[in-house]
Amino acid sequence: MAPGRLPRASLPRDPAPAAEATRLHELLERLGAALRAEARAAGADLGLQPVHAEVLGYLGRCNRYSDGPLALAEYLGLTKGTVSQSIALLERRGLVARGDDPADGRKVHLRLTPAGKRALARLVPAGGLEAGADALGHAERAALLTALEGLLRALQRARGGRSFGVCGTCRHFLREPDGGRRCGLTREPLTERDATLLCREHEGLAPAAAGGP
Ligand code: SF4
Repeated sequence: MAPGRLPRASLPRDPAPAAEATRLHELLERLGAALRAEARAAGADLGLQPVHAEVLGYLGRCNRYSDGPLALAEYLGLTKGTVSQSIALLERRGLVARGDDPADGRKVHLRLTPAGKRALARLVPAGGLEAGADALGHAERAALLTALEGLLRALQRARGGRSFGVCGTCRHFLREPDGGRRCGLTREPLTERDATLLCREHEGLAPAAAGGP
């Protein structure tokens, strides 16, 4: 079996006709190829490859529990070696900086520098995708987002990987009596912004509680 390919037995039962699943596969592949082509063109001026845009994009959206090289490799589905090379290049370009963890000397925290944030704003979203999304109506965009998020969750469940979601859909998320937010896993308080960031420790709610599939 090819690396990364799921055994069919591990996939959830899906009554979708094979022709629809095949068409979905083809469309997602075409969209992925189009986005990579856009990322290559947009990154050429900055000397960046599509993978570098993905690293910047992740570091711009992850929380403090998820900003290390291991989480980055897990999220992107890449080897630690590939991720290390990308981080080293982005550090040399002054787009990413690393800091120590005051509580754990073995941990490294990566963050975007101001130049990294500017580069990310040029790369994501891809210009073509923005124009394409503009052409859809609000209801179509909302339905598309819901469907793609459901599809991604289903694939992640089937693969048994981490979900990398946000606090609002995590079973550890707590609301304090005074309206504050807290992570039930780390017991640390969360700001409003923290709660919008991707988390490596995220564990999804049961489908009924999440209001989704
Ligand atoms: S509540 Fe869940 S998603 Fe939020 S920080 Fe805690 S583990 Fe992560």
